[in-house]
Amino acid sequence: MKKIAILGSTGSIGTQTLDVVRNNKDLQVISLVAGSNIDLMEEQIREFHPSMVSIWNAEKAEELKKRVQDMDVKVLSGMEGMIACATETSVEIVVAAVVGMIGILPTIEAIKAGKDIALANKETLVTAGHIIMPLVKEYNVKLLPVDSEHSAIFQSLQGEEGNRISRILLTASGGPFRGKKREELKQVTLADALKHPNWAMGRKITIDSSTMVNKGLEVMEAKWLFDVDIDEIEVVVQPQSVIHSMVEYEDGAVIAQLGTPDMRLPIQYALYYPERRDLPGDRLDFKTLQKIDFQAPDLETFRGLQMAYEVGRKGGSMPTVYNAANEKAVAMFLDEKIGYLEILDVIQYAMDHHQWIADPSIEEILKIEQEVYACIEEKWH
Ligand code: NDP
Ligand code: MG
Repeated sequence: MKKIAILGSTGSIGTQTLDVVRNNKDLQVISLVAGSNIDLMEEQIREFHPSMVSIWNAEKAEELKKRVQDMDVKVLSGMEGMIACATETSVEIVVAAVVGMIGILPTIEAIKAGKDIALANKETLVTAGHIIMPLVKEYNVKLLPVDSEHSAIFQSLQGEEGNRISRILLTASGGPFRGKKREELKQVTLADALKHPNWAMGRKITIDSSTMVNKGLEVMEAKWLFDVDIDEIEVVVQPQSVIHSMVEYEDGAVIAQLGTPDMRLPIQYALYYPERRDLPGDRLDFKTLQKIDFQAPDLETFRGLQMAYEVGRKGGSMPTVYNAANEKAVAMFLDEKIGYLEILDVIQYAMDHHQWIADPSIEEILKIEQEVYACIEEKWH
């Protein structure tokens, strides 16, 4: 039995992780964490029998506690509860799938408690990669990517120890607005931006995909995971989302991982690495697919991707500012408080008003996050 904790169990990645658990009889759910969705959490408790759960919102946690009195489960709340779930003694692997920088502390504590991490929560690595990667080494745990592109890169690196990579080719679908010019994006509504052509995901990452800020975050995520320079990572637009990413070696060989767009594959691969298991679902059919298209990204329209390269090169506290400002801007866009193109203006504004530091500690990263939110709130109240 492999014992797992899922942080963000009610979300897109969390529910698909539970689907993988359903298909495999040797995974045992020890703990589950969510923000406020206690209806779904109650269902998950009744189906998977975790010994501990945590709900961020304390009032909701109290309500859940009453509802599951008949079950043998501890119900906790807040950051303390999330960390308790991530570090529970019997847990072997933590699926880090909460959305946003809230995932930093529980991930760090899980590593320190010797847990392997299946990482979906890219914001954690973007902002605190310089702290997390050395900790992964120090505590000798595995950090396994769940993000589909990074899983593809990881799969393309198997059996190549010691060989030199010349480039990482990070594929991007281009999102719902691929081919559009900035001018045409002025009138984009929330509903337009929430329509991703290939992947069904949580709301925040769906907006990030439409602005290509998601790809920018992934460039920085790849830099940390695979220890490469930002400029060794090239984004290739590939609208069908068939090639999940590629690695080019110094002899010019390019190794790729292909498949249908199904997040359960990278989730399952991370949970069982290095073993592959049967996974029910569609298979690629090259006869109906016929062709795969490639394009260069339009960095003028999707300024957020260009900015991510600059942010990644600068490093230090800048990725935190870029990420925190994006989290805030996307939340404001989802609340229909700002227009679509303003998302990038908010990020730029926060970056322009930041006093850069070279090597921020976790405390400083979390402080900068709050400062960025305050700076944006003051301007866009
Ligand atoms: P969702 O919005 O679907 O789910 C987010 C999860 O986090 C929910 O379970 C939510 O609980 C929980 N959560 C939110 N805030 C808190 C909090 N303060 N404390 C505890 N739990 C909280 O997001 P996704 O599943 O789409 O994405 C999760 C992460 O994975 C993101 O970092 C994303 O970038 C990454 N990712 C996602 C992919 C995808 O296909 N979805 C692909 C690659 C990466 P509640 O439901 O109660 O709000
Ligand atoms: Mg991805």
